[in-house]
Amino acid sequence: MTLTLDRFRRIVVKVGSSLLVDGASGSLKHDWLAALGDDLARLHASGKDVLVVSSGAIALGRGVLKLPRGALKLEESQAAAAVGQIALSKSWAEVLGKKGITTGQILVTLGDTEERQRYLNARATLGRLLDLRAIPVVNENDTVATNEIRYGDNDRLAARVATMAGADLLILLSDIDGLYTAPPNTNPEATLIPVVPRITAEIESMAGGAGSELSRGGMRTKIEAAKIATSGGTHMIIADGRVDNPLGAIAAGKPCTWFLTGSNPVSARKTWIAGVLEPKGVLHVDAGATVAIRSGKSLLPAGIKRVEGLFEQGDAVVLRAPDGGEIGRGLIAYDSTETALLAGRSSKEIETLLGYAGRAEVIHRDDMAFGAA
Ligand code: GLU
Repeated sequence: MTLTLDRFRRIVVKVGSSLLVDGASGSLKHDWLAALGDDLARLHASGKDVLVVSSGAIALGRGVLKLPRGALKLEESQAAAAVGQIALSKSWAEVLGKKGITTGQILVTLGDTEERQRYLNARATLGRLLDLRAIPVVNENDTVATNEIRYGDNDRLAARVATMAGADLLILLSDIDGLYTAPPNTNPEATLIPVVPRITAEIESMAGGAGSELSRGGMRTKIEAAKIATSGGTHMIIADGRVDNPLGAIAAGKPCTWFLTGSNPVSARKTWIAGVLEPKGVLHVDAGATVAIRSGKSLLPAGIKRVEGLFEQGDAVVLRAPDGGEIGRGLIAYDSTETALLAGRSSKEIETLLGYAGRAEVIHRDDMAFGAA
Protein backbone atom coordinates (compact mmCIF):
# COMPACT_ATOMS: atom_id res chain seq x y z
CA MET A 1 0.00 0.00 0.00
CA THR A 2 1.38 3.41 -0.85
CA LEU A 3 0.34 6.13 1.49
CA THR A 4 2.04 9.39 0.75
CA LEU A 5 1.71 12.64 2.66
CA ASP A 6 0.37 14.43 -0.44
CA ARG A 7 -3.15 13.18 -0.09
CA PHE A 8 -3.66 14.73 3.36
CA ARG A 9 -4.96 18.24 3.83
CA ARG A 10 -4.60 18.85 7.58
CA ILE A 11 -1.65 17.32 9.40
CA VAL A 12 -0.73 17.35 13.10
CA VAL A 13 2.91 16.70 13.91
CA LYS A 14 3.72 15.69 17.48
CA VAL A 15 7.26 16.20 18.65
CA GLY A 16 8.53 14.31 21.69
CA SER A 17 10.73 15.84 24.40
CA SER A 18 13.65 13.49 23.82
CA LEU A 19 13.89 14.71 20.21
CA LEU A 20 13.83 18.39 21.08
CA VAL A 21 15.88 18.48 24.24
CA ASP A 22 19.32 17.04 24.82
CA GLY A 23 19.02 14.71 27.83
CA ALA A 24 22.51 15.38 29.16
CA SER A 25 22.69 19.17 28.86
CA GLY A 26 18.97 19.96 29.07
CA SER A 27 19.32 22.35 26.15
CA LEU A 28 17.25 22.61 23.00
CA LYS A 29 18.52 20.84 19.87
CA HIS A 30 18.46 23.91 17.63
CA ASP A 31 19.79 22.32 14.44
CA TRP A 32 17.32 19.47 14.57
CA LEU A 33 14.45 21.88 15.18
CA ALA A 34 15.58 24.10 12.30
CA ALA A 35 15.58 21.07 9.96
CA LEU A 36 12.10 20.09 11.12
CA GLY A 37 11.07 23.71 10.52
CA ASP A 38 12.14 23.23 6.87
CA ASP A 39 9.96 20.13 6.63
CA LEU A 40 6.96 21.88 8.17
CA ALA A 41 7.39 24.93 5.95
CA ARG A 42 7.43 22.68 2.89
CA LEU A 43 4.15 21.04 3.91
CA HIS A 44 2.66 24.44 4.70
CA ALA A 45 3.79 25.90 1.36
CA SER A 46 2.10 23.03 -0.47
CA GLY A 47 -1.20 24.36 0.90
CA LYS A 48 -1.70 21.98 3.80
CA ASP A 49 -2.91 23.03 7.21
CA VAL A 50 -0.20 22.19 9.72
CA LEU A 51 -0.43 21.94 13.51
CA VAL A 52 2.35 21.09 15.93
CA VAL A 53 1.95 19.43 19.31
CA SER A 54 5.24 20.03 21.06
CA SER A 55 6.52 18.52 24.27
CA GLY A 56 9.68 19.73 25.90
CA ALA A 57 8.51 22.34 28.40
CA ILE A 58 9.31 20.23 31.46
CA ALA A 59 12.54 18.88 30.00
CA LEU A 60 13.77 22.42 29.18
CA GLY A 61 12.61 23.96 32.44
CA ARG A 62 14.12 21.34 34.72
CA GLY A 63 17.56 22.14 33.38
CA VAL A 64 17.12 25.87 33.93
CA LEU A 65 15.83 25.29 37.46
CA LYS A 66 18.57 22.73 38.13
CA LEU A 67 16.09 20.16 39.35
CA PRO A 68 17.52 16.72 40.19
CA ARG A 69 17.51 13.89 37.64
CA GLY A 70 14.86 11.21 37.97
CA ALA A 71 11.15 11.51 38.55
CA LEU A 72 9.86 14.96 39.46
CA LYS A 73 7.10 15.72 41.95
CA LEU A 74 3.99 17.21 40.37
CA GLU A 75 4.74 20.75 41.63
CA GLU A 76 8.30 20.46 40.36
CA SER A 77 7.21 19.43 36.90
CA GLN A 78 4.64 22.25 36.90
CA ALA A 79 7.32 24.76 37.86
CA ALA A 80 9.61 23.31 35.19
CA ALA A 81 6.82 23.56 32.60
CA ALA A 82 6.18 27.20 33.53
CA VAL A 83 9.82 28.03 32.90
CA GLY A 84 10.37 25.78 29.90
CA GLN A 85 7.19 26.68 27.99
CA ILE A 86 8.42 30.23 27.40
CA ALA A 87 11.62 29.04 25.78
CA LEU A 88 9.77 26.34 23.85
CA SER A 89 7.25 28.72 22.31
CA LYS A 90 9.95 31.24 21.52
CA SER A 91 12.00 28.63 19.67
CA TRP A 92 9.04 27.51 17.58
CA ALA A 93 8.11 31.09 16.78
CA GLU A 94 11.70 31.82 15.71
CA VAL A 95 12.20 28.69 13.63
CA LEU A 96 8.91 28.99 11.75
CA GLY A 97 9.10 32.79 11.70
CA LYS A 98 12.32 32.50 9.65
CA LYS A 99 10.19 30.70 7.06
CA GLY A 100 7.64 33.50 7.09
CA ILE A 101 5.14 31.44 9.08
CA THR A 102 3.24 32.80 12.08
CA THR A 103 2.82 30.53 15.10
CA GLY A 104 0.17 30.65 17.82
CA GLN A 105 0.64 29.07 21.23
CA ILE A 106 -2.27 26.98 22.50
CA LEU A 107 -2.09 25.42 25.95
CA VAL A 108 -4.91 23.01 26.71
CA THR A 109 -6.04 20.99 29.68
CA LEU A 110 -7.93 17.72 29.60
CA GLY A 111 -11.15 19.63 30.31
CA ASP A 112 -10.63 21.82 27.25
CA THR A 113 -10.70 18.78 25.02
CA GLU A 114 -13.45 16.85 26.83
CA GLU A 115 -16.12 19.38 27.85
CA ARG A 116 -18.30 20.31 24.92
CA GLN A 117 -18.31 24.10 25.21
CA ARG A 118 -14.62 24.40 25.96
CA TYR A 119 -13.92 21.89 23.23
CA LEU A 120 -15.88 23.97 20.75
CA ASN A 121 -14.06 27.12 21.79
CA ALA A 122 -10.64 25.51 21.49
CA ARG A 123 -11.66 24.02 18.13
CA ALA A 124 -12.87 27.37 16.85
CA THR A 125 -9.58 29.05 17.81
CA LEU A 126 -7.57 26.32 16.10
CA GLY A 127 -9.78 26.64 13.03
CA ARG A 128 -9.37 30.39 12.87
CA LEU A 129 -5.59 30.17 13.25
CA LEU A 130 -5.47 27.67 10.39
CA ASP A 131 -7.75 29.85 8.24
CA LEU A 132 -5.23 32.63 8.83
CA ARG A 133 -2.46 30.23 7.71
CA ALA A 134 -0.75 30.22 11.10
CA ILE A 135 0.70 27.06 12.63
CA PRO A 136 -0.78 26.41 16.09
CA VAL A 137 1.82 25.06 18.53
CA VAL A 138 -0.01 23.09 21.18
CA ASN A 139 1.06 21.68 24.54
CA GLU A 140 -0.73 20.59 27.67
CA ASN A 141 -1.20 23.40 30.17
CA ASP A 142 1.00 21.54 32.62
CA THR A 143 1.20 24.41 35.08
CA VAL A 144 -2.44 24.01 36.11
CA ALA A 145 -3.20 20.38 35.28
CA THR A 146 -3.21 18.09 38.30
CA ASN A 147 -2.58 14.35 38.34
CA GLU A 148 -6.25 13.39 38.20
CA ILE A 149 -7.15 15.78 35.42
CA ARG A 150 -4.27 15.72 33.05
CA TYR A 151 -3.16 13.83 29.99
CA GLY A 152 0.41 13.72 31.23
CA ASP A 153 1.58 12.52 27.84
CA ASN A 154 1.41 14.40 24.59
CA ASP A 155 0.68 11.32 22.49
CA ARG A 156 -2.94 11.12 23.61
CA LEU A 157 -3.19 14.91 23.77
CA ALA A 158 -2.03 15.12 20.16
CA ALA A 159 -4.63 12.54 19.13
CA ARG A 160 -7.41 14.58 20.75
CA VAL A 161 -6.11 17.76 19.16
CA ALA A 162 -6.02 16.00 15.79
CA THR A 163 -9.63 14.83 16.03
CA MET A 164 -10.70 18.18 17.47
CA ALA A 165 -9.11 20.02 14.54
CA GLY A 166 -10.58 17.58 12.02
CA ALA A 167 -7.07 16.59 10.89
CA ASP A 168 -6.82 13.68 8.52
CA LEU A 169 -3.29 12.72 9.60
CA LEU A 170 -1.38 12.69 12.89
CA ILE A 171 2.36 12.03 12.83
CA LEU A 172 3.99 11.06 16.13
CA LEU A 173 7.69 11.75 15.80
CA SER A 174 9.36 9.50 18.28
CA ASP A 175 12.67 7.95 19.32
CA ILE A 176 11.57 4.70 17.67
CA ASP A 177 10.62 4.21 14.03
CA GLY A 178 7.33 2.42 14.59
CA LEU A 179 5.53 -0.44 16.28
CA TYR A 180 7.46 -3.71 16.47
CA THR A 181 6.14 -7.22 16.95
CA ALA A 182 8.18 -7.29 20.20
CA PRO A 183 10.45 -4.78 22.00
CA PRO A 184 13.33 -4.44 19.47
CA ASN A 185 16.01 -3.65 22.06
CA THR A 186 15.53 -6.99 23.83
CA ASN A 187 14.26 -9.23 21.03
CA PRO A 188 16.38 -9.61 17.89
CA GLU A 189 13.49 -11.32 16.08
CA ALA A 190 11.30 -8.21 16.39
CA THR A 191 10.08 -6.76 13.11
CA LEU A 192 8.49 -3.42 12.31
CA ILE A 193 4.79 -3.48 11.39
CA PRO A 194 4.28 -1.10 8.43
CA VAL A 195 0.48 -0.89 8.48
CA VAL A 196 -2.04 -1.51 11.25
CA PRO A 197 -5.49 -1.59 9.61
CA ARG A 198 -7.23 -2.11 12.95
CA ILE A 199 -6.09 -2.05 16.58
CA THR A 200 -6.61 -5.56 17.86
CA ALA A 201 -5.77 -7.12 21.24
CA GLU A 202 -2.69 -8.59 19.60
CA ILE A 203 -1.51 -5.13 18.50
CA GLU A 204 -2.09 -3.80 22.01
CA SER A 205 -0.05 -6.61 23.51
CA MET A 206 2.94 -5.54 21.37
CA ALA A 207 3.02 -2.14 23.02
CA GLY A 208 5.27 -3.05 25.97
CA GLY A 209 6.08 -0.67 28.85
CA ALA A 210 6.61 2.98 29.64
CA GLY A 211 8.77 5.64 28.04
CA SER A 212 12.09 7.26 28.86
CA GLU A 213 12.88 9.72 31.62
CA LEU A 214 12.38 12.80 29.48
CA SER A 215 9.31 11.80 27.56
CA ARG A 216 6.36 10.26 29.28
CA GLY A 217 4.80 8.46 26.37
CA GLY A 218 5.99 4.93 25.65
CA MET A 219 4.50 2.66 22.99
CA ARG A 220 1.48 2.09 25.22
CA THR A 221 0.37 5.74 25.10
CA LYS A 222 1.03 5.72 21.35
CA ILE A 223 -1.39 2.84 20.88
CA GLU A 224 -3.91 4.69 23.07
CA ALA A 225 -3.35 7.72 20.84
CA ALA A 226 -3.88 5.57 17.75
CA LYS A 227 -7.22 4.40 19.15
CA ILE A 228 -8.37 7.98 19.76
CA ALA A 229 -7.14 9.17 16.36
CA THR A 230 -8.49 6.33 14.24
CA SER A 231 -11.89 6.29 15.93
CA GLY A 232 -12.17 10.03 15.20
CA GLY A 233 -11.39 9.64 11.51
CA THR A 234 -7.66 10.50 11.63
CA HIS A 235 -4.89 8.28 10.26
CA MET A 236 -1.79 8.09 12.45
CA ILE A 237 1.90 7.43 11.82
CA ILE A 238 4.59 6.57 14.34
CA ALA A 239 7.88 7.59 12.77
CA ASP A 240 11.50 8.02 13.71
CA GLY A 241 12.19 11.62 14.59
CA ARG A 242 15.87 11.14 15.38
CA VAL A 243 16.98 11.92 11.84
CA ASP A 244 17.20 15.42 10.40
CA ASN A 245 14.15 16.25 8.24
CA PRO A 246 12.04 13.38 9.60
CA LEU A 247 8.97 14.35 7.54
CA GLY A 248 11.04 14.36 4.37
CA ALA A 249 12.22 10.88 5.37
CA ILE A 250 8.63 9.61 5.68
CA ALA A 251 7.77 11.10 2.30
CA ALA A 252 10.83 9.37 0.84
CA GLY A 253 9.55 6.02 2.09
CA LYS A 254 11.55 5.48 5.29
CA PRO A 255 9.90 2.64 7.26
CA CYS A 256 7.34 3.72 9.85
CA THR A 257 4.01 2.40 11.15
CA TRP A 258 0.69 3.60 9.79
CA PHE A 259 -2.53 3.18 11.77
CA LEU A 260 -5.46 3.47 9.41
CA THR A 261 -8.89 4.85 10.11
CA GLY A 262 -12.02 3.56 8.44
CA SER A 263 -13.74 6.93 8.30
CA ASN A 264 -12.69 10.52 7.75
CA PRO A 265 -12.93 13.31 10.33
CA VAL A 266 -15.49 15.36 8.46
CA SER A 267 -17.88 12.49 7.88
CA ALA A 268 -17.35 11.12 11.42
CA ARG A 269 -18.25 14.53 12.81
CA LYS A 270 -21.18 15.10 10.50
CA THR A 271 -22.62 11.68 11.32
CA TRP A 272 -22.35 12.62 14.97
CA ILE A 273 -24.13 15.96 14.49
CA ALA A 274 -26.81 14.56 12.16
CA GLY A 275 -27.64 11.38 13.96
CA VAL A 276 -26.09 11.01 17.37
CA LEU A 277 -26.79 14.26 19.16
CA GLU A 278 -30.28 14.92 20.37
CA PRO A 279 -31.44 18.36 19.12
CA LYS A 280 -32.37 20.76 21.91
CA GLY A 281 -34.13 23.40 19.82
CA VAL A 282 -35.35 24.56 16.44
CA LEU A 283 -34.34 27.59 14.40
CA HIS A 284 -36.81 28.74 11.76
CA VAL A 285 -34.84 30.50 9.06
CA ASP A 286 -35.90 32.67 6.13
CA ALA A 287 -35.81 31.77 2.43
CA GLY A 288 -32.46 33.51 1.82
CA ALA A 289 -30.76 31.65 4.67
CA THR A 290 -32.31 28.37 3.49
CA VAL A 291 -30.66 28.80 0.08
CA ALA A 292 -27.37 29.92 1.67
CA ILE A 293 -27.23 26.95 4.06
CA ARG A 294 -28.11 24.48 1.29
CA SER A 295 -25.23 25.87 -0.76
CA GLY A 296 -22.82 25.20 2.11
CA LYS A 297 -22.73 28.59 3.88
CA SER A 298 -22.82 29.31 7.62
CA LEU A 299 -25.98 30.55 9.32
CA LEU A 300 -25.80 34.25 10.26
CA PRO A 301 -28.14 35.96 12.77
CA ALA A 302 -29.95 37.89 10.02
CA GLY A 303 -31.46 34.70 8.56
CA ILE A 304 -33.16 33.56 11.78
CA LYS A 305 -36.92 34.23 12.01
CA ARG A 306 -37.86 32.39 15.18
CA VAL A 307 -36.24 30.34 17.94
CA GLU A 308 -37.84 27.39 19.74
CA GLY A 309 -36.57 25.43 22.74
CA LEU A 310 -34.08 25.94 25.52
CA PHE A 311 -30.51 25.19 24.59
CA GLU A 312 -26.94 25.96 25.58
CA GLN A 313 -24.04 27.05 23.45
CA GLY A 314 -22.71 23.95 21.67
CA ASP A 315 -26.04 22.07 21.65
CA ALA A 316 -27.45 20.61 18.46
CA VAL A 317 -30.45 22.37 16.92
CA VAL A 318 -32.66 21.63 13.93
CA LEU A 319 -32.85 24.17 11.10
CA ARG A 320 -36.25 24.55 9.45
CA ALA A 321 -37.07 26.26 6.13
CA PRO A 322 -40.10 28.62 5.76
CA ASP A 323 -42.20 25.63 4.58
CA GLY A 324 -41.40 23.86 7.87
CA GLY A 325 -39.15 21.24 6.25
CA GLU A 326 -35.89 20.27 7.95
CA ILE A 327 -32.84 21.73 6.22
CA GLY A 328 -30.27 20.15 8.50
CA ARG A 329 -28.83 20.23 11.99
CA GLY A 330 -25.97 22.10 13.54
CA LEU A 331 -24.08 22.97 16.68
CA ILE A 332 -25.05 26.43 17.80
CA ALA A 333 -22.57 29.07 18.98
CA TYR A 334 -25.06 30.81 21.32
CA ASP A 335 -27.61 29.76 23.92
CA SER A 336 -31.35 30.11 23.29
CA THR A 337 -31.72 33.50 25.01
CA GLU A 338 -28.84 34.99 23.06
CA THR A 339 -30.03 33.44 19.79
CA ALA A 340 -33.48 34.97 20.28
CA LEU A 341 -31.84 38.38 20.82
CA LEU A 342 -29.76 38.00 17.68
CA ALA A 343 -32.57 36.71 15.43
CA GLY A 344 -33.02 38.89 12.35
CA ARG A 345 -30.15 41.21 13.26
CA SER A 346 -26.88 41.91 11.50
CA SER A 347 -23.65 40.22 12.69
CA LYS A 348 -22.24 43.72 13.26
CA GLU A 349 -24.77 44.25 16.05
CA ILE A 350 -23.70 41.20 18.08
CA GLU A 351 -21.43 43.10 20.42
CA THR A 352 -24.04 45.77 21.15
CA LEU A 353 -26.81 43.21 21.64
CA LEU A 354 -24.90 40.75 23.82
CA GLY A 355 -22.27 42.93 25.45
CA TYR A 356 -19.37 40.92 24.01
CA ALA A 357 -17.96 40.31 20.55
CA GLY A 358 -19.33 36.84 19.77
CA ARG A 359 -18.85 34.84 16.61
CA ALA A 360 -20.38 36.20 13.39
CA GLU A 361 -21.83 32.77 12.56
CA VAL A 362 -24.63 31.44 14.72
CA ILE A 363 -23.91 28.02 13.23
CA HIS A 364 -20.64 27.63 11.38
CA ARG A 365 -20.79 25.58 8.17
CA ASP A 366 -18.31 23.05 9.62
CA ASP A 367 -20.77 22.44 12.44
CA MET A 368 -23.69 21.78 10.12
CA ALA A 369 -24.90 18.39 8.84
CA PHE A 370 -27.61 17.40 6.38
CA GLY A 371 -29.69 14.31 5.92
CA ALA A 372 -30.34 13.61 9.59
CA ALA A 373 -30.73 9.97 10.53
N1 GLU B 1 3.67 18.38 28.29
C1 GLU B 1 4.96 17.87 28.62
C2 GLU B 1 6.04 18.89 28.33
O1 GLU B 1 5.88 19.75 27.53
C3 GLU B 1 5.35 16.62 27.85
C4 GLU B 1 4.51 15.41 27.98
C5 GLU B 1 5.12 14.28 27.15
O2 GLU B 1 6.33 14.10 27.18
O3 GLU B 1 4.41 13.58 26.46
O4 GLU B 1 7.10 18.85 28.88
